[in-house]
Amino acid sequence: MTRTDRALSWAYLLASFLTLHCAVVSARHGAPWYTAGLTAATLLLIGATVREHQAADERRATVVKTERAARLRALDEQRAIRRTADTLGHSCCERWWTSCGTQHASTCNSQRRTV
Ligand SMILES: [Zn+2]
Repeated sequence: MTRTDRALSWAYLLASFLTLHCAVVSARHGAPWYTAGLTAATLLLIGATVREHQAADERRATVVKTERAARLRALDEQRAIRRTADTLGHSCCERWWTSCGTQHASTCNSQRRTV
């Protein structure tokens, strides 16, 4: 939860206490419509506070998922680089490279070793 989210959450909570107080005062002075309206406003502000916390939780979960996906992607890239380096390390001649590893040049040392 960011600083702004926290400040907004506290503002909603304070506003809900204020509207609740106004609803109570309205009820004591015999104004049922104001009491109902202010009670509804209080409930809406409490709902806004709860939603603010839920949104912060969802943002936090999204950040965690994104970081995990980035770490996995980095691992995959490292594996691909390692595989490529291994392949390049085992390449012996240009003929082997251009024939996708099926043939060797006549001067290739690997061909002499395997044959
Ligand atoms: Zn070769």
